[in-house]
Amino acid sequence: MWYDTGMNAEQINETLNAIAASEPDTNSGKLFAYTFDPGNPAIKQLALEAYKKFSDKNCLDFTVFQSAIFFEREIAGMVKEWLRAPDSCIGVFTAGGTESVLLAALTAREHFKKLGKQGVPEIIAPATIHPSMSKAAFYFGMDIRKIPVDESGRVRVAALLEAISDQTALIALSAPNWAYGTVDPIAEVSSVAEQKQIPLHVDACVGGMVLPFMRLSGIEAPEFDFTLPGVTSVSVDFHKFGYTPKGASMVMFRDSEYAAGSIYVDSHTPGYVLVNRSILSTRSVGHLAAAYTALSYIGTKGYEQLAVQIQDTYESLRGQLGSLGFEMTTPSVPMILTFHHPTYDVVNFALNMKKKGWVLHLLKGYPEYNIPMTVHLTLSPVHSKMIEAFIRDAKDSCVENSGVSHEDILLHSEKFIRKLASGESDSMLIPLVLDMMEPDVVEKLIINAVNQWFKPK
Ligand SMILES: *Cc1c(COP(=O)(O)O)cnc(C)c1O
Repeated sequence: MWYDTGMNAEQINETLNAIAASEPDTNSGKLFAYTFDPGNPAIKQLALEAYKKFSDKNCLDFTVFQSAIFFEREIAGMVKEWLRAPDSCIGVFTAGGTESVLLAALTAREHFKKLGKQGVPEIIAPATIHPSMSKAAFYFGMDIRKIPVDESGRVRVAALLEAISDQTALIALSAPNWAYGTVDPIAEVSSVAEQKQIPLHVDACVGGMVLPFMRLSGIEAPEFDFTLPGVTSVSVDFHKFGYTPKGASMVMFRDSEYAAGSIYVDSHTPGYVLVNRSILSTRSVGHLAAAYTALSYIGTKGYEQLAVQIQDTYESLRGQLGSLGFEMTTPSVPMILTFHHPTYDVVNFALNMKKKGWVLHLLKGYPEYNIPMTVHLTLSPVHSKMIEAFIRDAKDSCVENSGVSHEDILLHSEKFIRKLASGESDSMLIPLVLDMMEPDVVEKLIINAVNQWFKPK
């Protein structure tokens, strides 16, 4: 059957505008995470122009579209300098942090096989590692073993070392982990990884575009890059603190021979010779062009300034939240601020803030590691002009009553679970409510729910 919807460009545009208007405003400075705003619209405009120029060019065949090679080498050159990688390094541009992490795990698996090791290759990572690493284990037939963390969310090195075995294919650490913003003791683990010849991946999806510039501008920053000899790969997201349009990340490998494990070549196909350095095959060169444009336009000096701006915002918010009686949950790098209160209920607080338009995150914490339930803010430069408004609303949110407290959720868990099942629950509370249910029940519930949401019209 032929559907003639008869929508003309104007009508389609109306639909687009209506949908866009119902979305959270990503330039409002009231969102934390999801969006990373340098506070300068010219950057995005330039990058999107670049995207348009190259949107039809195809990474699939970089012998035909050599712009794909040009941009990728230029970008890798910048990252090589920022992460102080050796000349032997090679960078692979990906669609995002998840793909970068997937490639790091896949490469480690291939290395494991190349060494002739038998059995299921295992990834060892802190409990605070990003879930994309578990997803990598799921995709590539690996196991992942989560190691306990201390009360700052950093991996317990002794426990990690104890977990190393013949099955260990990869150790993965964070610089920093997204939840708490703490950087694992990478230098300490690096020397063991080097000595035992086990690949070490540093997930710097969050920190890779800030920590090097903190160091360059004289702010103390934790060690995480290729100057640590045990580090074999590092993932860094451009679409976070690189402020590029979404769809841009890189995994940098210490040397191209090790990295070769993730290249897929198939010369016996019915069509063309397939050569993929990343997971996807056809991809727009536009993503590369846009990232190249933003990275070049901001440049080392620009990223230094933006890093300082984030640091200043962090210090100011930290001080003022401290005056309201909030306590920082963990020490952290300045892009992430986590806090809780010894007497106010943070659930009530966060719901009050939400009513005032702030989109914060509530982390359920790790009672087993002495990490309490926590409010999480991911700070980007745009927040520097939001400090006053945030603190004013935070002050009010401490005394107002949202109608729901953490205790309510615990006491009336049945009610909240029912609300969740019927799609009524506040998205911020979902992790707390889910936490009270059995994991397999939770998974079924979520799969059913998303199948409903995405049912074709
Ligand atoms: C965001 C993030 C990722 C995954 O990145 P996506 O771009 O969302 O796929 C991986 N690790 C960390 C630490 C992150 O913050």
